[in-house]
Amino acid sequence: MLISISKMLRDLAYLFYPIHCAACNNPLHKNERILCTYCRHELPLGNFHNVNAKKIEKVFYGRIKIENATSLFIFHKDSLVQNLIHNLKYRGQEEIGEELGKWLGRELSQIRDYKSIDFIVPVPLHKKRLQERGYNQVEKFGIEIAKKLNAEYINSVLKKKSYTKKQSKRGRFNRWTNTVETFDTQNESLLINKHILLVDDIVTTGATIESCVNALKPISGIKISIATMAITV
Ligand SMILES: [Zn+2]
Repeated sequence: MLISISKMLRDLAYLFYPIHCAACNNPLHKNERILCTYCRHELPLGNFHNVNAKKIEKVFYGRIKIENATSLFIFHKDSLVQNLIHNLKYRGQEEIGEELGKWLGRELSQIRDYKSIDFIVPVPLHKKRLQERGYNQVEKFGIEIAKKLNAEYINSVLKKKSYTKKQSKRGRFNRWTNTVETFDTQNESLLINKHILLVDDIVTTGATIESCVNALKPISGIKISIATMAITV
């Protein structure tokens, strides 16, 4: 009896406050979570860890040494992926990161190159930005990937040093030269001779990831791979 009453209340609540798809904003059916079935099929998968490995290499090639790189989605302007990441970063929908982490983690757990990952390291936010937002949008994403790969999530090694102002309307090139993000490390000994997976939300120029890799690479014997929610290729 109790169960049926609580189910009834839940159904009633749903009738008045339907939950919406985090990408297309249509109401979700009762059996859908975070994303509607349509979006789950339509979101443009990167599939770099399966067949498109060459495509992602050109983003980082010649700039940093990495083992493997992948991204769940391909990023286009004014797209479902953009809505999704916007809702995650600016509308408090932290659970989106959890869902995307489960999705990518499930796929990576099938790929040999990702089985040797020891630690998942998130690209950190500056303290000030973390206070404004209340959460690092890649934390849940990283934690879920860690669970699927039997790796450990560790956010105490990489720290953001400079606070980058919100990006202005200057061109892509100027933005790149004017805002240099720098990162520091601490407790480096934890990562000696370890294979880490650096996780971030969107990669556009690759500059943030490059700065993180440059901060981490002096650690003896470290191997670095990269996984993001979305990438512009
Ligand atoms: Zn949808």
